[in-house]
Amino acid sequence: MADDFIYELSSPGRVGVALPDSDVPETPIPADTLRPELPLPELSEVDVVRHYVRLSTKNYGVDTGFYPLGSCTMKYNPKINEQTARLPGFTNIHPLQDPVTVQGAMQLLYEMQDMLAEISGLDAVTLQPSAGAQGEFTGVLIMRKAQIARGQGHRDKILIPDSAHGTNPASTAMSGLHVVEIASDADGNVDIEQLKAHLDDTVVGLMITNPSTLGLFDQNIVEVCRLVHEAGGLVYGDGANLNAIMGIVRPGDLGIDVMHFNLHKTFSTPHGGGGPGSGPVGVVAELAPFLPAPVVGLSAEGEYEWVWPAQSIGRVRSFHGNFGVIVRAYTYIRMHGAVGLRRVSEDAVLNANYMQARLLELGDYPVPHGDRYCMHEFVAQGKIAGAEGIHTLDIAKRLIDFDYHPPTIYFPLIVPEALMIEPTETESKETLDGFIAALTQIADEARSDPELLHTAPHHAPTRRLDEVRAARQPILAKTSA
Ligand SMILES: *Cc1c(COP(=O)(O)O)cnc(C)c1O
Repeated sequence: MADDFIYELSSPGRVGVALPDSDVPETPIPADTLRPELPLPELSEVDVVRHYVRLSTKNYGVDTGFYPLGSCTMKYNPKINEQTARLPGFTNIHPLQDPVTVQGAMQLLYEMQDMLAEISGLDAVTLQPSAGAQGEFTGVLIMRKAQIARGQGHRDKILIPDSAHGTNPASTAMSGLHVVEIASDADGNVDIEQLKAHLDDTVVGLMITNPSTLGLFDQNIVEVCRLVHEAGGLVYGDGANLNAIMGIVRPGDLGIDVMHFNLHKTFSTPHGGGGPGSGPVGVVAELAPFLPAPVVGLSAEGEYEWVWPAQSIGRVRSFHGNFGVIVRAYTYIRMHGAVGLRRVSEDAVLNANYMQARLLELGDYPVPHGDRYCMHEFVAQGKIAGAEGIHTLDIAKRLIDFDYHPPTIYFPLIVPEALMIEPTETESKETLDGFIAALTQIADEARSDPELLHTAPHHAPTRRLDEVRAARQPILAKTSA
């Protein structure tokens, strides 16, 4: 591993470029700009190229293999998105330019606002937030300000089901409101009696993920929204699982008042270490005046212009969002069209149900809600009969030896030993079968040779990490000492 550190490859005097002779006086670099413990590495071009290409092969990405990371929608990122995002007309502009000179970019943003509104059944959209979590934060601030405008400023609680993603309570707490947890019922839906018990005039609203992180469509969603509205609350829809329902049902039609979209999940833009995110937020007409400013409008003369909504919560980000990401997602939507997006969701749900049905048939892994059709993902359990000492973590680590990225593990929290599998629509039947075969082999190994799982992975660039020590004693930089 020594050569993982570029400093260790350095050789004094070696260079990667030949500069022409200087025709200006030499000036030394000011001493206080250089830190002696951080010398500049000296390498040839080929050494640098090999170093970074070698490192890149140790990384795992959706371009190298199957990545069924539940709730994250690690679908393939079409390469045409990269081509459009690199068009000079998009890369050579600046957000401070006079709007007259960037009408094309503003048209793209305007149409993106419109398309997301249509997909969600909502009335107005901001493209500013940089991620789903920031979209949640934005949405909660909008809900709070709308309640103040209704004369309901004393309301200070957000109800959140216990199956929620950790960002839901976190973004609520960041906005200064209180979180109240609502239990799920035996079928995985929101427990209606629990919900009713908490609905009073202190509630700003409910934050619900539908389909839920159990991979289930809440069968009572219309009733849930109706009850919240009746109590004077608003409904926030966490849109991270939109991949299951595009073109089939629109959150706005169900009673959702505000939701975020994860362009880096549903709309195929690079994700995680591969690129920045984008979390636009859509709202019903009543909430449109509170959107972050500015949004893009279209004047009567047909010019695109920056518009400040009347009671805006202000800016939540510099400029107009992650523009390059929005161009990629715009490309994806235009490439598919309305019919294609529906097909995306149908295939995502089909792939997940195929895997759930195969796992149930093979019987090695329990699937707690396997009696229901799942949406685009489902939650199994790493509880293998006859291998009681084996945990989900061991199974996940062993999957790495089969060249798969493990599914999401130990989430949602309400399912013990959870293995949350989201295949996405971009995978072939052969890939899904290959993954199932690996899970079956791992279940056999768990019974015959548990040590093999406890010590996995065996074929990865790093062996199993001591996660506790990594958290308590992180070594974040290599020093020359
Ligand atoms: C991914 C996710 C989020 C947060 O989105 P980010 O873009 O990662 O901030 C919120 N809720 C659910 C259900 C998610 O899967």
